[in-house]
Amino acid sequence: MPGSEIITIGEMIVEIMRKRVDSPLDRPDDFVGPFPSGAPAIFADQAARLGHSVALIGAVGEDDFGKCLLERFAADGVDTKYVTQVSGLATGVAFVTYFSDGSRQFIFHIGNSAAGQLPQPQEEIFTGAKWLHICGSTLSASEAMRQACYRACELAAEAGAHISFDPNLRPELLGGEEALRAICAPVLAAAALVLPSSTEAELLTGVPGIEAACQTLLDGGVEIVALKRGADGCTIFTESQTISVPGYEVEVVDPTGAGDCFDAGFVVGLTEGLDLEEVGRLANACGALATTRQGPMEGAARRTDSVKLAGLSDTTSNMRCR
Ligand code: ATP
Ligand code: MG
Repeated sequence: MPGSEIITIGEMIVEIMRKRVDSPLDRPDDFVGPFPSGAPAIFADQAARLGHSVALIGAVGEDDFGKCLLERFAADGVDTKYVTQVSGLATGVAFVTYFSDGSRQFIFHIGNSAAGQLPQPQEEIFTGAKWLHICGSTLSASEAMRQACYRACELAAEAGAHISFDPNLRPELLGGEEALRAICAPVLAAAALVLPSSTEAELLTGVPGIEAACQTLLDGGVEIVALKRGADGCTIFTESQTISVPGYEVEVVDPTGAGDCFDAGFVVGLTEGLDLEEVGRLANACGALATTRQGPMEGAARRTDSVKLAGLSDTTSNMRCR
């Protein structure tokens, strides 16, 4: 059996969120959840819902939170052959609260949970793979998780797969800008596609000005930079062109996960050979639809919905359907 065309690695967690805005996490109040989550997990689920073969390298505990994750992936067709169930450790958790100014705050239990026990990536995983997707959140979660990502990048490069990198750096997980650049450097050096949002390109390069920072990424050897711009959509930079693709108007319920769904739409669009503007439309559609449901992965779009919103005619000719 051929391997999956898209591979990702990293934290599998459940998210438990405050029901109300402006409810800090240092006092009792109501929560809702668990929702399946984790940036690479959301990415994998979205790519699978778009009809592509995706494998996730990760770990969960032998508990009901782990079951919540595994059942979702089984339902959506994500290959979990490389997900280990760790005995003696609980599944990873994130608690999140939103504030009325649009900001959010997290408490993460990742590196010290089952999520942190990533299995060592094996060569066979990358047979036939076209893309490996790495998230900054995984790199910043623990040394062991970082090393597993670096190893995955080496194996992916050897197998001829492209590497995409979302520097979704959570301030809660960081140890300063210099440390952050050092941990991202090995992935950045191998990445063909980087998908930053807001100030992440500046953080990643140390270059002030978002456009200048994106250009610096291209100068460093990245082929495509896809800058996520929230409701405004995205701007795609390559050596030869800069394309701004407007976002879609939607009623936002919960923005968490939009970036990861965008990433999946973008990688899928490239895999299917769409032109860059179409790739931006598909990614924007996935990002926009992701915000319309409560829960980080609940809004991951079905193929028909995202293709329709993006105004694309759906040809499945380049796609390997599940
Ligand atoms: P997150 O970290 O919450 O997953 P992000 O900060 O990485 O997200 P955003 O720029 O907020 O990234 O969102 C990613 C993409 O999702 C945007 O580029 C856009 O296509 C879409 N999107 C996000 N918010 C909205 C919105 N309010 N309306 C329409 N589209 C949106
Ligand atoms: Mg992000």
